[in-house]
Amino acid sequence: MRKLTVAIDGPAGAGKSSAARLVAGRLQYLYIDTGAMYRAFTWAMIRKKVDIHDSQAVQTLADTIDIRLEPLADQCRVFVNNQEVTEAIRTKNISSCVSSVAALAVVREKLVQLQRTMAEEGGVILDGRDIGTVVLPNADVKIFLTASVASRAKRRFLEMQAKGSTDTLDDIARSIAARDDMDSHRAVSPLRRADDAILLDNSELNLEQTADAIMDLILKKGR
Ligand code: C5P
Repeated sequence: MRKLTVAIDGPAGAGKSSAARLVAGRLQYLYIDTGAMYRAFTWAMIRKKVDIHDSQAVQTLADTIDIRLEPLADQCRVFVNNQEVTEAIRTKNISSCVSSVAALAVVREKLVQLQRTMAEEGGVILDGRDIGTVVLPNADVKIFLTASVASRAKRRFLEMQAKGSTDTLDDIARSIAARDDMDSHRAVSPLRRADDAILLDNSELNLEQTADAIMDLILKKGR
């Protein structure tokens, strides 16, 4: 099968990265977690105390930052200027700040360019919010993966509980809904389904079933 480019977009907690990782592992494709790149930029802003309203400082950071994703089996390690931040970008603080940072045009310009370069060779699965609409409008396969807020919140809740978090289901549902709202209403590259993306609602599907459904769509295109 020829090496395809696969774009998976959708709201927070739809299980995009888990499913994309599984499928990438099965196809021996490179998995590119673009959300991790926005998280890494956010981590660097906090670390360097860059004020989000200081456009010059944000620009300077964008001009100098080195964000690198290193595939490890079907996983993705994340580095900022050679410092590993794979775990550090998953905190609650980063989750609550990332959508404001991702709304900045200068940040998007920088990261979209990086994502396109990484996808050049094909044999890649990118997940995010604007892959099918902006980053790779000519992707071979475009999927918009979504699920109800209730089922997305429940999944996140179980995931966070396993990590020892004390957040309630309500807290998590509220934070997911807030992120959906910001991501869908920002001026630059808002979250939206590309006209030619296939809608996949996985409210009633588990991870394996979601990955199977994505595999079916890819295999159909690859023939
Ligand atoms: O995928 P994840 O939930 O880790 O993404 C974190 C945040 O990064 C999203 O809520 C969104 O604000 C931003 N993002 C984006 N465009 C992408 C990927 C992520 O704006 N392609």
